[in-house]
Amino acid sequence: MTQHANPDRDVDALRGLPAVHEIVSRLESEGWSPRIGRAVVRRVAREAIGACRERVAKGALADVDLASILQDARRRAAAEDRPALGPAINATGVLLHTGLGRAALAARAADVLRQVGAGHAPVEVDPASGARGTRTALSRSLLTELTGAESATVVNNAAAALALTLAVSAHGREVIVSRGELVEIGGSFRIPEIIEAGGATLREVGTTNRTRAEDYERAIDGRTGAILKVHCSNFRIEGFTHDASIAELASLARARSIPLVHDIGSGLLTPLAQLPSEPDATGSIAAGADAVLFSGDKLLGGPQSGIIVGRHVLIERIEAHPLMRALRVDKLTLCALMETLRLHRDADLARGEIPVLRAIVEPVKALQARAAHLADSLSRLDHARATVVETTAFLGGGSNPAEAMPSVGVEITSEAMNEHDLARALRLAVPGVWGRLRGGAVLLDLRSVLPEQDAALCSVVSDVLSGGSADADVPDRPRPQRPTIPREE
Ligand SMILES: *Cc1c(COP(=O)(O)O)cnc(C)c1O
Repeated sequence: MTQHANPDRDVDALRGLPAVHEIVSRLESEGWSPRIGRAVVRRVAREAIGACRERVAKGALADVDLASILQDARRRAAAEDRPALGPAINATGVLLHTGLGRAALAARAADVLRQVGAGHAPVEVDPASGARGTRTALSRSLLTELTGAESATVVNNAAAALALTLAVSAHGREVIVSRGELVEIGGSFRIPEIIEAGGATLREVGTTNRTRAEDYERAIDGRTGAILKVHCSNFRIEGFTHDASIAELASLARARSIPLVHDIGSGLLTPLAQLPSEPDATGSIAAGADAVLFSGDKLLGGPQSGIIVGRHVLIERIEAHPLMRALRVDKLTLCALMETLRLHRDADLARGEIPVLRAIVEPVKALQARAAHLADSLSRLDHARATVVETTAFLGGGSNPAEAMPSVGVEITSEAMNEHDLARALRLAVPGVWGRLRGGAVLLDLRSVLPEQDAALCSVVSDVLSGGSADADVPDRPRPQRPTIPREE
């Protein structure tokens, strides 16, 4: 293609460009200003005119076309009229996808969250007396009721929970950990580094595959501050292995008056038959752990938070620590967490209403029916294919790779786009749909999709496949380069 073949004509064409205020007043009359603000209206008008100027300069456009500039400006305005961090549909098959914000809240928790977020809640005042109270007192009674622990508190995440617990139990002293448990979990959570952050020194015992109670016993001396046991949640060592049980370590710790800290990570409160290798907080407390730590947004199904349950004296010292103020949770986290905990008081309520638990127990038959329904609607579209396939779903969120679940998905392909462009268009749609790439197709795994999102999923995918969604070709906003589908840790 020859560029600038006729510079005179280009100049004539550019003379026809509208002024910014013309586009702005059109957008204002269409009601965009109260939605996205006047400054953004002006910016999208300038951008649309600039894009037109570039097309003319490149010779891609013979004449300035006011209607197409306006259309472009409207499209840009619509892209600005979305939540900056909008909702997404998780069709990756990874139930607790850290990149997609881990657990989805139960509908009841989300309802209370909306009300409290839009208003106020007595986080640090006692409604009965009107006097000042403690932020974590409300969640304490639910957590002790659910786990049998003496006391409990809540901080920003499990990493913070561990750093704080070690800061009060082992500052300036040694923390004894098995060599098989010096793990890294999810971006930058490394046990040796957290121990250091808590001002303690790591004392490694045993070997990668075998550590016995006697190994811990030999390491205990005047410098010992705590014994730490960590659930190796994202990998598994198989074969000739041994690790000391919580009960063994608890009797050792009690005899030497050393606190036993157990990081169980994923946050099961009581055993779940479907996940036999996950430890649970109640069992660990009953076996004698002094502090048990876990995430709020993994198997518990709540908001991001770190929960510590255990002995009174430890929890009191944790809450008095200066870092507690820096790591405390806000009213949104507290209310969502407590509504989630209320559901956990009844196993049937929890399994029926907490999305991650519901997904784990959902029968393959039910997934098949949902997938068939989706594939059926999509296969009515021209130029697209949708096929029901068997898949494997994973727990994710730094959980055991061996914890795979049979699942069902729909593989989609489009004649108009390759699988990478299709996946991108789905991610950029509203709500964004996140699948995974498999054999030249985009695979939508139904086990990680909330059943109440099935209709939205179908309509977004239909729109994208039929090219009807303008959202799919919205210009890139500046965002970091990422692989097509982020891998789960
Ligand atoms: C996930 C996990 C953590 C980190 O939890 P965050 O809440 O993300 O800080 C710590 N320990 C274990 C064992 C985990 O599985």
